[in-house]
Amino acid sequence: MTVLPLLGAQVDRPAGFIHNGVQLGGGAFHVFAGLCAVDTRAHLDATFAALQRAGVVTARAGAYKPRSSPYDFQGCGAAGLRDIFDSASAHGIKLIAIEVLHERHLDDIKEALRVTSSSASVLLQIGTRNTQNFELLRAVGRQQEFPVLLKRGMGITLDESLLAAEHIAYAGNTRVVFCLRGVRSHLAAPHRNLVDFAHVPTVKRLTCMPVCADPSHAVGARTSHHGLDDLHHASAQAVIAGADMLLVDVHPQPAQALCDGAQALTLEELPRFFSDVHAVRAAAVLRTHAAPVVSDLHAVRAHFDAIDAQLLALLAQRHAAARAAAHHKGALGLPITDLAREHAAARARAAIARALGLDDDVVQQIFAPIVAASKRAQADLLAAR
Ligand code: PEP
Ligand code: MN
Repeated sequence: MTVLPLLGAQVDRPAGFIHNGVQLGGGAFHVFAGLCAVDTRAHLDATFAALQRAGVVTARAGAYKPRSSPYDFQGCGAAGLRDIFDSASAHGIKLIAIEVLHERHLDDIKEALRVTSSSASVLLQIGTRNTQNFELLRAVGRQQEFPVLLKRGMGITLDESLLAAEHIAYAGNTRVVFCLRGVRSHLAAPHRNLVDFAHVPTVKRLTCMPVCADPSHAVGARTSHHGLDDLHHASAQAVIAGADMLLVDVHPQPAQALCDGAQALTLEELPRFFSDVHAVRAAAVLRTHAAPVVSDLHAVRAHFDAIDAQLLALLAQRHAAARAAAHHKGALGLPITDLAREHAAARARAAIARALGLDDDVVQQIFAPIVAASKRAQADLLAAR
């Protein structure tokens, strides 16, 4: 049997690749958040600035939009690409998912990158309406300059969508990310599509592609339960199942958005979304490592590494919380240090440590530099305002 480049994961090939300094798959995890359709430069700048504040270097930005109705906004087209790349360079964004509908859009992208001398690069997105547009698949497959994100076809089988990815690889480009985005069904209501994120491990088993999930186009609405949107819950399903990437719609003014505003997160909601996703990601990393087998040092070490990854994810969350605290202290005119609050928090930690059977002194030693780093970060942030 012919060994296919993407399908047939039994062949020992590393899943994932690095593009413009960003690793996709192979253990890395990224959220590509941004405008479904770029409408104004101000919205673009505000969105990329929010990503930069969150320490994120990946984004989405729709320029060419395939719309069901010819009377709807069709996207900013080539004219908006320069704004996208200028703004990306200004905000440290390294990789942007941009949907293309035609081979000539690749030339537009290359030209805009050249003219702007942007430090960013592009992940070419093929939308669900084009999953079986074989000419387009061959076009993005013939070039090696950009990797490709292929959306699952909304009304075809998973096998057919995976074979569409194979078309890209067959034409020469094996740097393909496969993106689940729900499937069309009247049974999906009240969601836009029926969420299919149980297929994350299936795609990983059947192929060596990094797997992305698009909860925005899957859920398509903002309804919540327990203070978390369906969008958060669907994202959590994808991430806990091992997704390597998320593609998420964000808009500074969803009510003004010209496309898919109803499903967009606001910029104010982004930090909470990131911290939720990273908490789930930490759990996903941990659960892929079996409980330690005491007789096997290798297994115990793998378990250590997974726990450390979780500790680091929590530290990142703590750091984001410190930034938010600095913002509020600045607005309220309060000092960074509040000794009464610090002592109360230390007493609460000591009580938890004792309950968990941990040594009080050791826990204090661990937390001293963590709290000091948080205060330093807050002071730096306030000084920079
Ligand atoms: C999109 O991501 O903007 C989009 C149009 O998605 P899909 O192709 O999955 O509908
Ligand atoms: Mn959309």
